Amino acid sequence: MTIYSGPVFEMARQQFQVIADHLEIPRDERDRLLYPKRAVVVSCPIHLDDGKLAVFQGYRVQHHLTLGPTKGGTRFALSVDIGEVAALAIWMSWKCALAGLPYGGAKGGVTVDPRALSPRELENLSRRYMQEMIPFVGPHTDVMAPDMGTNEQVMAWFMDTYSMYQGRTVTEIVTGKPVASGGTEGRREATGRGAAFLIGRVLERLKTQPAGTTAIVQGFGNVGSHTVETLANWGVKLIGVSDHTACYFDPRGLDTEALLKHAQKHGVLAGFSNQLSFDARELLVQKCDILVPAAVERVIDASVAARLQCRVLAEAANGPTTPDADEVLDRRRDEIFVIPDILCNAGGVVVSYFEWVQDLQQFFWDEAEVMSKLYHVLDRAFMQVMRRVEHDGISHRNAAMAIGVEKVRSAKNTRGLFP
Ligand code: NAD
Repeated sequence: MTIYSGPVFEMARQQFQVIADHLEIPRDERDRLLYPKRAVVVSCPIHLDDGKLAVFQGYRVQHHLTLGPTKGGTRFALSVDIGEVAALAIWMSWKCALAGLPYGGAKGGVTVDPRALSPRELENLSRRYMQEMIPFVGPHTDVMAPDMGTNEQVMAWFMDTYSMYQGRTVTEIVTGKPVASGGTEGRREATGRGAAFLIGRVLERLKTQPAGTTAIVQGFGNVGSHTVETLANWGVKLIGVSDHTACYFDPRGLDTEALLKHAQKHGVLAGFSNQLSFDARELLVQKCDILVPAAVERVIDASVAARLQCRVLAEAANGPTTPDADEVLDRRRDEIFVIPDILCNAGGVVVSYFEWVQDLQQFFWDEAEVMSKLYHVLDRAFMQVMRRVEHDGISHRNAAMAIGVEKVRSAKNTRGLFP
């Protein structure tokens, strides 16, 4: 009896069941922890440039209200449905709890290909979506952020629409805004830099210097490009990269600076090179030290997992690895060090939290302060996960999730049934 279905929700459900078994959570407590508290579905009508009317379906799922407001990104993509949004909200809950943030998880989205809209149509849709959400969000109830297909500009439109309704500027309603509109230094780079920081911590444990190691990155949007930038600064050699338009591979190393410039100018990787084109389906299984999926869910299934040739798998995307792949990776534990998504990409929500705190206080920090606080939080979470792995003898993902689920559970149990 649930409205939540689909392969991504099924993944979140299966992962939770594994943890619930491990933590010996009684059966009657499980549904309360897993199923979202609220889901909102809205129709967003807009006028297109040709004068016609189009209606887009929008969603917002608030997973739990136990630790504070809910927090989570907004995705504009054709894949968006209630099951995908719910899974992403659930993962946000475990991620926020693991990082020690006072939030429940949320996620939202609109089923649309944002690249098929003109800038004006995108603005109309962004504003309309926020308008529809006004009764259900607020700085102390649910705070939005960017995700796939949305960016700082979309966040500025969200914030402006909410503010016009309130009759005053309410910067703290969304995070990931432009710095000029109440955003924080470092938010744009936070997820990618956070992922790179954790890769650095893992390389330290493996007694490997970053300079001279090789990396393959799937996805070259906000997260992928900033991960690449940081790794390149350390002398890591990028040998493969892809986005939805192109895939390049060169074992001698790609020109990261030229790639970043190209993507900044054109928005995509297509057109960068003819000679270096490669089969995107084969990219992830090429030999490299660091593999970073930074695009979409479920790209590593059991058969891909069996063929991976990386030393470190840094899950910058949400949900890139399926539960059956997890079983394979568990068997390959000594070969491949997995940095699970709820840890690897937590940098984004950590700096979003800093942005919210700064907006509430109207007291802003410089970039160095933001970054040093970010690395402190990520390091603490990383060490907690490592200790749990050793103590319980479980995989990195299960350790990270166990910490997150446990924190939410204990807050629920001390508060009672209401939130
Ligand atoms: P984005 O829209 O900026 O970029 C997405 C990238 O993925 C683009 O380069 C796109 O071309 C590429 N892509 C899409 N489908 C692909 C495919 N089938 N194969 C290869 N590449 C493909 O999005 P983003 O913000 O960088 O988000 C990427 C991932 O990171 C998502 O899973 C998102 O949920 C997760 N994430 C993002 C943040 C954040 O702060 N933006 C925080 C945490 C997690």
